[in-house]
Amino acid sequence: MKTLTCKDLGGKCDYKISVETWGDAVKTMTAHVIEKHPDVAEEMKRMHEKDPEKWGREMKPKWDAAPEI
Ligand SMILES: [Zn+2]
Repeated sequence: MKTLTCKDLGGKCDYKISVETWGDAVKTMTAHVIEKHPDVAEEMKRMHEKDPEKWGREMKPKWDAAPEI
């Protein structure tokens, strides 16, 4: 299990995302920004349309670097 915060993943609060896999982190973060930060969700959507790999490329290393807890 690893923990990242919303901020770590390009969001704007300290909401903690504690999950087993990167896939779950993406799902949890996506649901969180849609609910709490519609502007961030909109920005991520635009980024995804331009370059679907960009967000993962920038955020995945943070996941990889986070300690296993
Ligand atoms: Zn947040």
